[in-house]
Amino acid sequence: MAFLLWNCRGLGKASTFRALRNLVNKHKPSIVFLMETKQRKSKLDRLRSRLHFHGSFYIDPVGIAGGLALWWKEEINLTVLSSSKNYIDTSIAINDQHCWYGTFLYGSPYLEERADIWANMSSLRSNDNILDDLFSPAEVRAIQSIPIGNPDCKDSLIWPANKNGIYSARSGYFSVLDSSQATPITSQSNDPKIDKNIWKSIWKLHAPPKIRSFIWKLCYNAVATKENLHSRFHLSDGKCPRCHDSVESVEHVLFFCPHAQAVWKASDFNYCPSLEGFPCFAKWWLHLFYSFMTVDHCHLSLVAFVCWFLWKSRNALVFQGSCDNPIEIWHLAARSDAEFKDVNSIPSRPLPNFLVSPWQSPPADFIKVNCDASFDHRTKKAGLAAIFRNSNGEVVGGSTMLVSSFSVVTAEALACRLGVVAAFRQGWKKIILESDNEGVISRLLKHEFSCWESASVEADILSFSFLFDVCSFSFVRRSSNGAADWLAKNTRNHSCPRDWVLSIPPELASLL
Ligand SMILES: [Zn+2]
Repeated sequence: MAFLLWNCRGLGKASTFRALRNLVNKHKPSIVFLMETKQRKSKLDRLRSRLHFHGSFYIDPVGIAGGLALWWKEEINLTVLSSSKNYIDTSIAINDQHCWYGTFLYGSPYLEERADIWANMSSLRSNDNILDDLFSPAEVRAIQSIPIGNPDCKDSLIWPANKNGIYSARSGYFSVLDSSQATPITSQSNDPKIDKNIWKSIWKLHAPPKIRSFIWKLCYNAVATKENLHSRFHLSDGKCPRCHDSVESVEHVLFFCPHAQAVWKASDFNYCPSLEGFPCFAKWWLHLFYSFMTVDHCHLSLVAFVCWFLWKSRNALVFQGSCDNPIEIWHLAARSDAEFKDVNSIPSRPLPNFLVSPWQSPPADFIKVNCDASFDHRTKKAGLAAIFRNSNGEVVGGSTMLVSSFSVVTAEALACRLGVVAAFRQGWKKIILESDNEGVISRLLKHEFSCWESASVEADILSFSFLFDVCSFSFVRRSSNGAADWLAKNTRNHSCPRDWVLSIPPELASLL
């Protein structure tokens, strides 16, 4: 089967038509794709008929520029799926067999238009129905999660168990071990791999062993909440004994019961846990561990003491019927933490701002682009978000997208690419791109694309960055990236409002 694809730069002249006829007679193509026809459908259809093509599809020129024509022979069963002035996307079968998909693309000579064309081409792959018709669900997921990146990146064989893609005996050993052992924490979380730092964060905690082991049990969802007792021993009631309003899970006792909320509110943390997008306890703890890492680890123990006394207070209610005052619980936790540190000669330091450290506005003339991704390991879908703010801290734009991805790192890189592409489309010249993924940012800064999962996307980000007058990359702690984080999570859960830039939802406004 032969194709003829030709940028003919106008089919109006007789000499061009003669050249086309010679090419068709010589190569006998089954499909002809002509770019820059600069002619209307009626004229092109007369030419098609003279060359004995059976089917046709046209994109009319805009003024005297552009114009596409697609012709095909009778034995070709071609269906146009979608089209624009730059492409015609089709499904093709020969004699109704071997159906495949072909996209006929007419690229733009203008660099700035390429981002749009690229975005359109990328979105073609999200047509689930086409893939569903052809492949098994597992194959569809695998295909959809391949990031389309920079075409200059060469394909290579990789060992996926190592970030750099190179095999080592150590990574081989651990991947065999991983595949033979189920991770117990999955019972509570969708995430099959919890960062191993979580165990380090618990066992190095400046707290008595009983509290460390309590936090460990919380991470494993191994405390005797009504929810757990109900699911394992079929107790008749799994409701919270305090508010009788919700199922008594670990998260409810420690964060969402009105009593727990009052304790956090009364604390120096002044924390308001929000049910919206709240991860399981293990992930919350890990998030906190990273948030405090650059400040001071000793504050993590105070959080552990608060959790411990919340649980004790719950037990006092269940077994003795006593009801503690939230302010007293906070004072008890703070005093116990201070005493433990005192006895063990651990210096106490002033408390940093709890989960929200202030977002820094960019200099005048600059736009700050905060990017984040929220990845679901089970569905392999990721919510991507980029939010743009000016030097006054005002939201001036943004973009969100739901995509398939095969890993967190790929999703984080895709979020950064969404940020640069969307910022470019909005016409900004000077941007500062922030992400809480240290790996992606550090590779972008070093121009070293050593992580096979995201290399082609990162190379793409870098090539886009050259389109700006200034485009700098910077790593921020997760706590300073709250708005992008909220948008990414809500995009993943299909709960992000479409017009969030024009009409900022209150939950997002509270994070700005
Ligand atoms: Zn409750």
